[in-house]
Amino acid sequence: MPFSKIVILTGAGLSAESGLGTFRGHDGLWDHFNLEEVATPEGFARNPVKLHAFYNMRRGWLKEAKPNAAHVALAHFEEAHGGDVLTVTQNIDGLHEAAGTRHLIHMHGELGRALCARCGTSLPWTQDLSLTTACPVCHKAGFLRPDVVWFGEMPREMDRIHEALRQCDLFVSVGTSGMVYPAAGFVALAASEGAHTVELNLDPSEGASLFAEAHYGPATEVVPAYVETLLRG
Ligand SMILES: [Zn+2]
Repeated sequence: MPFSKIVILTGAGLSAESGLGTFRGHDGLWDHFNLEEVATPEGFARNPVKLHAFYNMRRGWLKEAKPNAAHVALAHFEEAHGGDVLTVTQNIDGLHEAAGTRHLIHMHGELGRALCARCGTSLPWTQDLSLTTACPVCHKAGFLRPDVVWFGEMPREMDRIHEALRQCDLFVSVGTSGMVYPAAGFVALAASEGAHTVELNLDPSEGASLFAEAHYGPATEVVPAYVETLLRG
């Protein structure tokens, strides 16, 4: 194994083949819902009922979703490498954990958690949320929201992520569009500190030219194949 410190960034393309039902039409989802309405703090303030319905639907799909061969390969890689492997995901599903990945940062939060805007408590949440749902800690209703990062909000644990990017000798981006910042800037930061950079994606992303190496195809094919070559070292 030529690499000792590895950061793996994952995005929607990784989970696309995970049987998320109608979520497979990922683009279709955004055709039917206005981003401003369902993915911003302002949208929540204006129409919390609509927003809860949107996330309740997606939380429901998660119950059917299973990790695919790419999630499994990444979890296997973490375990087989035995060293410093950090997975940073933009996905709000829990499929990395379900596959067995342990060293993981959910930079855009988790659909399977609720956050109380009143007392700041974050807790695992699998049921529907509504305006009458009371926070189990402060006991007030109307303040619980999905514990996800909306547009205009700060992604989680950015200091830890930047530190890992500066120190890594291999940066692998899996299934990301290369369009959503700050994640789109990770490859440049890792490369500037000397890391080898690899893109695994269905098609070349917006930032494809920034990577030193790339493999294109469905995640369930290119990720297991790439992991195998890495482990053969
Ligand atoms: Zn509370």
